[in-house]
Amino acid sequence: MGRRAKSGNGQEKNDMSRFSAENFERPVLDTPNDSKRILMHSCCAPCAAEVMDALAASEIETTIFFYNPNIHPRDEYEIRKEENIRYAEKLGMEFIDWDYNAKDWFDRTKGMEDEPERGIRCTECFDMRFEVTADYAAEHGFDLISSTLGISRWKNMPQINGCGELAASRHPGMHYWTYNWRKEGGSQRMIEISKREEFYQQEYCGCVYSLRDTNAWREQNGRDKIKRKVKFYGRDAVLGESEEA
Ligand code: SF4
Repeated sequence: MGRRAKSGNGQEKNDMSRFSAENFERPVLDTPNDSKRILMHSCCAPCAAEVMDALAASEIETTIFFYNPNIHPRDEYEIRKEENIRYAEKLGMEFIDWDYNAKDWFDRTKGMEDEPERGIRCTECFDMRFEVTADYAAEHGFDLISSTLGISRWKNMPQINGCGELAASRHPGMHYWTYNWRKEGGSQRMIEISKREEFYQQEYCGCVYSLRDTNAWREQNGRDKIKRKVKFYGRDAVLGESEEA
């Protein structure tokens, strides 16, 4: 638990500023199996950066595993990946650029095209990504995995944790860390860091169906369609978290 920042007159400053990236005294995190090494599945730089900072502050040796064949189209996948590589290089973390087997993702989610976000298509999508993460972890001597996906307020954390735990259970001795990366101001710092680093700001979850459904929602609400690859945190007049990030 981080100590509270002090104000000028020595009074405890119990407001959100103590959680800012500048003021927050990061706690040393304890992993569920006491491992000091983790394979961290990452979905994108905005979600990953706060998690990466938290792990670095806890001196947990972190390897970033970028496996997201759900992201559509390919140029959207590439820009999200490159932003994540940029931050991994800044922190000196190893980055595994895994497969973009998009056809397998489409095969696996066949028949679920019209399911709503946070429904069964998303469970399948998480299962696929975490199974491959857990397999890679087992083959490379990791006994602890987790994902940056849960930090976004657009996601259902119990759904993500359930998929992560199921994937880990396929390998004896493997743990999925269900840490809540949003707490203690994690969501606030996620936006702050994204602005500071001017990360690319995606406006839909990732798959072609989420792009379609977000655009349909926008149309119904009199808003412009998504313009991909043009919006960056900190450069545009964006005050809060993206519709997806
Ligand atoms: S909405 Fe997001 S989590 Fe759900 S299937 Fe699409 S990419 Fe995967």
